[in-house]
Amino acid sequence: MGGSSSRQQPQYNPPPPPDSIMGRLYSQSQPQALFSYHQDAYAPHHYEVPSTTTAQVIPVRWDATINKGSIKLVSNDYKPNFYHLEFEYDSEFQCLINIYFFADEQIGPAGVQYIVNTSKYPQPLFLNLPPAQSQKCSQATIDISKYSPDELFFRNSNSYPIVIEIIPRYPPETSRPPQALTTYLSFERKGRNLGVFPIRQKLTLAGQTYELMEIYGFSEKQGADNSNCVICLSEKNDTTVIPCRHACLCQYCAEMLKNQGRNSCPICRGPISSFVTIKLD
Ligand SMILES: [Zn+2]
Ligand SMILES: [Zn+2]
Repeated sequence: MGGSSSRQQPQYNPPPPPDSIMGRLYSQSQPQALFSYHQDAYAPHHYEVPSTTTAQVIPVRWDATINKGSIKLVSNDYKPNFYHLEFEYDSEFQCLINIYFFADEQIGPAGVQYIVNTSKYPQPLFLNLPPAQSQKCSQATIDISKYSPDELFFRNSNSYPIVIEIIPRYPPETSRPPQALTTYLSFERKGRNLGVFPIRQKLTLAGQTYELMEIYGFSEKQGADNSNCVICLSEKNDTTVIPCRHACLCQYCAEMLKNQGRNSCPICRGPISSFVTIKLD
């Protein structure tokens, strides 16, 4: 029998038109950034003259997060092929954690929904959890003997092997913009065992959805060590190379590279599709 199961999510706004990555950037103690959702920003098909963009940092206060580095599959000693999905979460508030295996992401006027064919795949788990810090969550389980390698290791742009959403539930008196952090994972082989790795994270904040991108080498602190441009060594490294996301240039040297038609990252020699300068207020 079975059927499908889904949860209503906050409104998803369509991505901005191409060549306006702009939007906003997130920055906090972790050197991470949010770009408006823009596929080409991280998966360019060809590399021509890089474009330059300026992005504004907006501070995000995380009300509920999943620690991406803590997510793992733990095998069960007694039941072969049986795994627990384990991770840590932080939440200042009561929160919902929704876990879907083999979910199709559907974006419609009503928002984002995750659809699971529960006649074949595990029932989604909807957990209502108390506020906590670095709290372990391992209720979700999967018996992988039921699935073929093709099912476990599939690649598809809007289907995901595992989706974890965390949504803070605010008390009525708080007036915070609603947020939801969604982490998408794939299975991977780890020797004779199975593991997972995060493919992407998205934050929905006040009805806007942002792709979360880590930026390497970026520091918010003026004058912090190794925060200078690798070319002129004097200006701040406020400009990030896309798609490798090395924050290694100042705005002027990025402009110079662009004008010289040089299109490889000074750190990793990877191709440059664009530069994003991060403006801190
Ligand atoms: Zn420079
Ligand atoms: Zn690079």
